[in-house]
Amino acid sequence: MQIVIVEDSMTTRVLFQDLLQKEGYERIKTCSSPAELFSFLKSNTPDLILMDVVMPGMDGLQACRMLKKDEKNREVPIIVITSKVDPADLRAAFSAGAFDFIKKPVNPVEFVARVRSALTLKQEMDRRKAREKELIKVTELLEKANEQLKIQASQDGLTGIANRRFLDFKLEQAWSRAREKKECLTLLMVDIDDFKSFNDFYGHLAGDECLKRLAQIFQENLKSPRDVVCRYGGEEFVFLLPGKNPPGGWQSAEALRQLVEDEGIEHRGTEGETGVTVSIGVATYQPGLEMASSQELLKRADESLYQAKTEGKNRVWPGPSSPVLCPE
Ligand code: GH3
Ligand code: MG
Ligand code: MG
Ligand code: MG
Repeated sequence: MQIVIVEDSMTTRVLFQDLLQKEGYERIKTCSSPAELFSFLKSNTPDLILMDVVMPGMDGLQACRMLKKDEKNREVPIIVITSKVDPADLRAAFSAGAFDFIKKPVNPVEFVARVRSALTLKQEMDRRKAREKELIKVTELLEKANEQLKIQASQDGLTGIANRRFLDFKLEQAWSRAREKKECLTLLMVDIDDFKSFNDFYGHLAGDECLKRLAQIFQENLKSPRDVVCRYGGEEFVFLLPGKNPPGGWQSAEALRQLVEDEGIEHRGTEGETGVTVSIGVATYQPGLEMASSQELLKRADESLYQAKTEGKNRVWPGPSSPVLCPE
C-alpha cells in the first residue's frame, strides 16, 4: 500500500517516513508541497495521504478540497496532521474532506495506529469495489444469457421461426385484443401434405430441409407486423392474423398455399404428386359470433384443416364465401 506524506518541514517529513518504515511500510512518497502532491497524483493513485495543514502557498485544507473534486483521487483517504485541534479547526478539516486527524506533535503510537486503521479501511473499500465491479459484470453476463434463453425458449430449434410456446403467448394477447377492440382474428393451420412419404422417399434430413425452406417462405411472407407464424408441431405451422376477417383470411391462406405450390419442391413419394403442397384450415373469431376461448379458435382451425385433407389436400378450407360479420 502506498502512502504519501505532504509536509513542508523536512524534519517532520523524515520523522514520519521513519515511523512508517519502522512499521514495515515500504511504499512511501514524500512531497514538500501540495503542488508536488498534485503532480505526483497525475500518474499515481496512493492508498493514503498524510496532509500537513500549515504550508506556504496552498494550505493543507485547500489541497483536501481540490483532491475531493478530482475524479481519480477523491476516494483516497486523507489524514490531516495539525497542531490546530480546537473544534472549529477540526470541523473545517472534516468539511474539507479529511477522513481523520492526528495532533501535532505526533505521538508515534497514535500516529502508526491511525495510519494502520485508515489503510485497513481503504483496503476493505477497495475489496468491496472490486466485488461490486465483478457483480456488475456477472449481472451483465446473466442478463445477456437470459435474453439468449428467452429467444431460445420462443424459437423453434430446427427452423428458427417462432415455436408453439410463443404462439400460445401471442394468441392469448391477440385474443384479448380482438375482443376488446371488437375486431376479427384469423388463425390458419397449415399442414404439409403426405410428408411422411416425403421423408420415406427422400430421407429425414431432406425432410428437415423442406421444413426449413417452408418456414423461411412463411416468415418472409408475413404481411403485417402483427402477424405471427410458428412451427406448431412436426410438419404443422400456425399463422395468427389479427384483424383479418373470413374473406381476408381465406385470401391469405390461398396465397400461402399457392406460394408453396409455386416453390416446386420435388415430391415423388406419392403417386401422381410431383411437388410439395400444403393444406390449410382457416378459422376466424368475429365479434358477435359465439366463441368461448382462443383454444376454440385453434380447435376450429384444426377441424377446418381436417376437412381440407378430407376434401383432397392442397387446398384451403373453408372456401371464400363464409359468413362475414366484421369488416377487415
Ligand atoms: P397428411 O397429408 O395427411 O398430412 O399426411 P402426412 O404424411 O403429412 O401426415 P402424417 O401425420 O402421417 O405424418 C407426418 C410426418 O411428418 C411424419 C413425420 O415423420 C414427419 N415429421 C414430423 N416432424 C418432422 C421433422 O422435424 N423432420 C422431418 N424430417 N419430418 C418430420
Ligand atoms: Mg507545516
Ligand atoms: Mg400433421
Ligand atoms: Mg401432413
